[in-house]
Amino acid sequence: MNAVIIGPPGAGKGTQAERVAAGRGVPKISTGEMLREAIQQGTELGRRAKATVEQGELVGDDLMIDIVRRRLDRPDARGGFVLDGFPRTVAQAEALDQMLAGRGPLVVIEIGVLGRELMRRMAARRICSKCGANAGPGDVTCRRCGGELVLRSDDEDASVRDRRLQVYARQTKPIVHYYRNRPTFRSIDGVQSPDRVAEDIGEAIDSALQTAGSTS
Ligand code: AMP
Repeated sequence: MNAVIIGPPGAGKGTQAERVAAGRGVPKISTGEMLREAIQQGTELGRRAKATVEQGELVGDDLMIDIVRRRLDRPDARGGFVLDGFPRTVAQAEALDQMLAGRGPLVVIEIGVLGRELMRRMAARRICSKCGANAGPGDVTCRRCGGELVLRSDDEDASVRDRRLQVYARQTKPIVHYYRNRPTFRSIDGVQSPDRVAEDIGEAIDSALQTAGSTS
């Protein structure tokens, strides 16, 4: 199963991508997490991306496409994957289609949540300072490694949160139009409990795969 989860920052893409990946036995590939890890470790990629990520802008298409191409070539992703945070531009979506030629259908799930709620969620969410995992609502320490929970640096400042919503509207929202007429595109209401959203996504993926199977 090849899937991408798209939607604005704060919609719950990371949380839901993790659940889908665990449920279906495929890796979750989160470009935001890969970048945060690189920044924390001070790698060449991290040094190149740091300022851009912290300002809430998008890292360049060529760099991101290269990162995802290499990741999808790794053996664990050959049987399927869930992408979170990529594609974020039409150029990235086009490149992804090229990478996936001959690798089966792509299921596209859009999680819809509107502006005010997104601002609230971004200000409230926490990640692990050690391993970068997303924390759940009541968590006090990281469930994966016991690390301390902190705000994401790009969630701290209201102006950066606002910037990311603007960047989404201008640069990422057009990918919804790029995908929306495909038989494997599904849109989900993201303003429900995480369990309900996960249920809807599960049903949407099954129905999209069925459609893809019957048309191929
Ligand atoms: P996320 O964790 O998906 O919200 O991503 C955090 C930040 O990483 C974004 O605000 C961007 O600065 C950067 N980023 C993540 N994925 C991409 C991408 N596909 N293209 C460009 N920038 C990205």
